[in-house]
Amino acid sequence: MNIPIIRTQKPKVKPQDESKLGFCKSFSDYMFIMEYNEKDGWHSPRVQPYGPLNIDPASPVLHYAQEIFEGLKAYRRSDGTIGLFRPLENARRMNRSAERMCIPPIDEEIQLQAMKTIVEVEKDWVPKSPGTSLYLRPTVIAEGNTLGVHAADRYIYFIICSPSGAYYESGLKPVRIHIEPNYVRSVKGGTGGAKTGGNYACSLRAAEDAKKHGFDQVLWLDGKRNRYIEEVGAMNVMFMIDGKLITPQLSGSILAGITRDSVLQLARDRGIPVEERAISVYELIDAYKVGKLTEAFGTGTAAVISPIGELVFKDNVLNLGEDIGEVSQYMYDTLTGIQCGKLPDAHNWTMEVCKA
Ligand SMILES: *Cc1c(COP(=O)(O)O)cnc(C)c1O
Repeated sequence: MNIPIIRTQKPKVKPQDESKLGFCKSFSDYMFIMEYNEKDGWHSPRVQPYGPLNIDPASPVLHYAQEIFEGLKAYRRSDGTIGLFRPLENARRMNRSAERMCIPPIDEEIQLQAMKTIVEVEKDWVPKSPGTSLYLRPTVIAEGNTLGVHAADRYIYFIICSPSGAYYESGLKPVRIHIEPNYVRSVKGGTGGAKTGGNYACSLRAAEDAKKHGFDQVLWLDGKRNRYIEEVGAMNVMFMIDGKLITPQLSGSILAGITRDSVLQLARDRGIPVEERAISVYELIDAYKVGKLTEAFGTGTAAVISPIGELVFKDNVLNLGEDIGEVSQYMYDTLTGIQCGKLPDAHNWTMEVCKA
């Protein structure tokens, strides 16, 4: 695939103070973009200056949320290269989401080439400080000019890039989580297993309410019985109970996180027993009461590992303390160590993109 680069006349000033980058607050100079129609398939791949998209106001993405996205990071590595972490897994998941949302798939090799190309063009935008990275957001949106409810016949795929700091400005800090008793994010047979915007739109009400009460995130329960643990905002969730690492199984209503998969592999490597199964909020409360719930944490590309300091469900307060648990810290150190090339990459998870 030949990818022409259309140069900008006005490169932006890069953020000077990397300690103030935050998460996805500004974007780099360029974006990758290509279009789909029935006659040409995916066509016209190119890198062009970052800027507004010109789409019809009747486009299905704007009315019926036909869209999917991904998130992954490019890192500066200790050997002087820039790398991506398990990008093929993102490309595969993009196509699983595409299938669910009636969006035409994009060849995984083409997705990889698109990601590598934009990272190479924007390599000077990959920040240098520890814990920082260039976040990539591949996205597909449905275009069109009629309001009928059906899958679109035109799409746009693009990748935008944002220099990002450590997710939590004050370092790895335990978060307060509200276990949501009423609203649900997803149901069996719904779209919870796809990375699609509608899952987020319907989560905002509970998230905003929780924020007003001093919580950082919402932990969702299953949509049928409001009983079984699902996931946290944009993270999967794991618990250390009685020396075992326990996380909800993938049953279609939660996202198959790549960080989740990586952490489970690292746990198995380390000899920590792993259980992927249904876990009810009452089991969690009981385990807490007898002192067997020793750690809880979220896993996701953005935060990597997010230790949980407190879980609140109705009148139950599960206080896990302000110290970062041993397993949480180990997983954070090991994953970030592999990503930046400081630790051996036994599972071949990193992919070199270019010299820095
Ligand atoms: C992206 C996402 C995750 C985390 O997936 P990673 O591949 O680990 O980044 C978890 N839950 C939801 C709902 C997500 O959108």
